[in-house]
Amino acid sequence: MSTEEHHHHDESYAELRTKALESLLVEKGLIASNAIDDVVRTYEQDIGPMNGAKVVVKAWTDPEYKKRLLEEGTSAIEEVGFTGAQGAQIVVLENTDDIHNMVVCTLCSCYPWPVLGLPPSWYKSEAYRSRAVVEPRAVLKDFGLELDPAVNVRVWDSNSEIRYMVLPQRPSGTDGMTEEELIEIVGRDSMIGVAIVESPTIV
Ligand code: FE
Repeated sequence: MSTEEHHHHDESYAELRTKALESLLVEKGLIASNAIDDVVRTYEQDIGPMNGAKVVVKAWTDPEYKKRLLEEGTSAIEEVGFTGAQGAQIVVLENTDDIHNMVVCTLCSCYPWPVLGLPPSWYKSEAYRSRAVVEPRAVLKDFGLELDPAVNVRVWDSNSEIRYMVLPQRPSGTDGMTEEELIEIVGRDSMIGVAIVESPTIV
């Protein structure tokens, strides 16, 4: 059995176990099934990506850290306290004026859990997985991101060994912001590379 097949076998087994556990808990009246959905959503949208946002802001505000992060992602991320399952090797890709990186897992749904939490459902969809490589700009457009044609788009295929995270560009007009305020504006999608971090609107 190849590594890939093995990897997939493990995933479906885990999924099966999860489903079995969930139905058992619901059946015994221990939890409502929407309670599980709420937890999953929280990990997808809030708790998970917050770790990545902290890493991004540290890189934006500490050039030495940024250097370490780009050279050795996994250990630099561990420095901030994030480590664990599905994060044995994390490679961080820097977006610049000329290069826009975006991440996909064409095989299944490999994703850097320690920094981004659980993958959103679109990341696991057949449409995203197949189109990201073939027509990345069209996919980005669907996400509302139209890049200058001069920008080079690079698509990275995650797998069970290497998982990628994008270091988005720091938007202009954010010089006076505190680290806490900066963390707030770094969205999950910018670390997958299907969005950029926007300058905060002045109120
Ligand atoms: Fe995968």
